[in-house]
Amino acid sequence: MLPGNTQQAEKVWSAVLGIVEMTIPRSSYKTWLGNTRAVSLARDELLVSTPDAFTAQYIQERLMVVLDTALRDVAGDGFNITLSVDGEKDTSLLTTDTSTQTEQTYLDARPVEQELEKSVSSAQQFNPKYTFENFIVGDSNELAFSGAKAVAEFPGVHFNPLVLYSGVGLGKTHLLHAIAQEGSRNGLNCVYTTCEDFTNQYVLAIQSGSTESFREKYRSSDILLIDDIQFLIGKEQTQEGFFHTFNALHMAGKQIVISSDRPVTDLTVLEPRITSRLAGGLVTDIQTPTLETRLAILRSKSSTFDCEIPQEVTEYLAKRVQSNVRELEGTLNKVVALSQFRGTQISLDSVKIAMADVRGPLQQKMVNDEAILAAVSNHFGIPKDHLKGKGRRKLTVQGRQVAIYLLRQETDLSLSAIGKILGGRDHSTVLHGYDRVASRIDVDETLRDDVLRIRAKIMKTR
Ligand code: ADP
Ligand code: MG
Repeated sequence: MLPGNTQQAEKVWSAVLGIVEMTIPRSSYKTWLGNTRAVSLARDELLVSTPDAFTAQYIQERLMVVLDTALRDVAGDGFNITLSVDGEKDTSLLTTDTSTQTEQTYLDARPVEQELEKSVSSAQQFNPKYTFENFIVGDSNELAFSGAKAVAEFPGVHFNPLVLYSGVGLGKTHLLHAIAQEGSRNGLNCVYTTCEDFTNQYVLAIQSGSTESFREKYRSSDILLIDDIQFLIGKEQTQEGFFHTFNALHMAGKQIVISSDRPVTDLTVLEPRITSRLAGGLVTDIQTPTLETRLAILRSKSSTFDCEIPQEVTEYLAKRVQSNVRELEGTLNKVVALSQFRGTQISLDSVKIAMADVRGPLQQKMVNDEAILAAVSNHFGIPKDHLKGKGRRKLTVQGRQVAIYLLRQETDLSLSAIGKILGGRDHSTVLHGYDRVASRIDVDETLRDDVLRIRAKIMKTR
């Protein structure tokens, strides 16, 4: 049993935040969790203080699943997080029924003024860790790195726009921030925004009749960096706003840098005039890093911790975690957080245990497909036979894709076996469904939240 003091509470809470920071977008992390602090840890309750009721409500409704999962990872089963507003336990929050919550968007959840006032160009916006110096260059990202360096040094000269394309967690945001920081150092006005924020601000500007100041904010930039352009898909109104901003800057010889999590040619849902504009600059892609690069990245990250990380541990992690750098980094953070919390040395054994905790092979095999279908059906309110059927309603298709994603992630079933379970679909349809969710899960908060909730339900009933 852990002693109920603040110091212990702080230790646990910071380990939990360390894990969660890796799984939710940085902007959400800063907005909602950045000003929380641990108050006490007594019996099974970790009391956490939030600055205001609005923040507490948001955390309770949208982030509690992720936080609970991380808390289980850190302290084991049997602990709960209770939120308080400025130290006062708010019991009304404890009764919040998260299952009946409607699909509230990020935009709905934030006060209008707050969103509009958000400064997009302030230096604090940039992550100080995301610099060119901290970026490990290898075959997989060399061209993107050189392109980024070139535009930071000679904006608007060679490559305009510069488009960085890659799967998730491979360094696009890192490079965008690096350009912005170097540009700012050279006295340039660098405006970084996620496409999601850009969209929200644009819609609000239209609603509140302040499109002029919106335009001014973006058009006064020397380098405009827009992250995750795929977010524009299906948002015709914002595409219009984007197109005009883009043209105005481009014509004035200002640098534009865009990131996308899929190839520009695949952004066919965007208006052709936008895709052709994007393709007109330098489009570079970042591939998944080779083992050598993964090792170099781990070595570089390890040197920032003040604890010993044996070489066999870095080698093991680099071999095991192949797909993306965020996951690689997240696993290393988790290993370090766990060893600090438990007061043990980092060894190959402790790492294997830590990794099995997350989603080890043992756990995977114990989840069965029926449990997954039941949880998806229950979460979205779609009958199971609709998931297996031919219906093309938006929600049904989404539920089906989430089912595919979870079946692939949580079981050992092959693509064709998954297809069979879902009413005889072929292997490429299953793969497409999987890719849809996998590519959106990092940028679409609602979707990620859905998947995390369903996964938590499956794990509970296991
Ligand atoms: P993306 O925007 O492509 O999804 P990010 O830029 O957010 O990916 O990268 C995920 C994490 O991995 C970040 O913490 C970033 O610093 C780190 N990262 C990615 N590529 C590299 C690299 N080549 N060297 C060092 N760190 C990297
Ligand atoms: Mg990114």
